[in-house]
Amino acid sequence: MRILIAEDDAIIADGLSRSLRQAGCAVDWAPSGVDADAALLTAAYDLLILDLGLPRLPGLEVLKRLRARNSSLPVLILTALDGTGDRVRGLDLGADDYMVKPFDLAELEARVRALCRRSAGTAPTIQCGSLVYDQIGRVAQIDGQTVDLSAREIGLLEVLLTRMGRLVSKDQLVDKLCGWGEEVSHNAIEVYVHRLRKKLEAGGVKIATVRGLGYCLERPQPE
Ligand code: CA
Repeated sequence: MRILIAEDDAIIADGLSRSLRQAGCAVDWAPSGVDADAALLTAAYDLLILDLGLPRLPGLEVLKRLRARNSSLPVLILTALDGTGDRVRGLDLGADDYMVKPFDLAELEARVRALCRRSAGTAPTIQCGSLVYDQIGRVAQIDGQTVDLSAREIGLLEVLLTRMGRLVSKDQLVDKLCGWGEEVSHNAIEVYVHRLRKKLEAGGVKIATVRGLGYCLERPQPE
């Protein structure tokens, strides 16, 4: 999951980035409206967290431009306590949800998960063999036992599960798992896949390597 945070307050942006990264998301930060607009034109995101009070280009204008390009990217707006008018305009312009500053990080994370899930159009849990993945709690279980996975492994598993039966290239994985300035090589991706495969093999989950192309989480055979 790759998220763009458009926020000029470095302290808020830093706190948000940290907590979302810990949750296994790739996060990019745009400190102005112009930066946000440029980032949205160049990278594929799963969610935009948009402060409305941005320098150089107001948040509402960033949103307007995004929707004018027919993008259906989920957008969560952040507004000041007294910004009721902005909030309404934001929702009218196609924002999906909003939070009022100061906000609770845990609540924001829950809303981020809900928005991403809604846009992916998937059920709260995904099953593959005897693996059950809870997208809300971000917990993987095999036969009722929780599988111990790192944030990176969870991120990887989510990408593969939501594209079950389809090929996912290493570049796509790097794109989904890493923000700007984070270097993750194809070799590192291979290591993550190797570890994830080991941890999930007991559940009958098969991650096939398609030589030179990428990976495919195989759909379990019907019994
Ligand atoms: Ca601001």
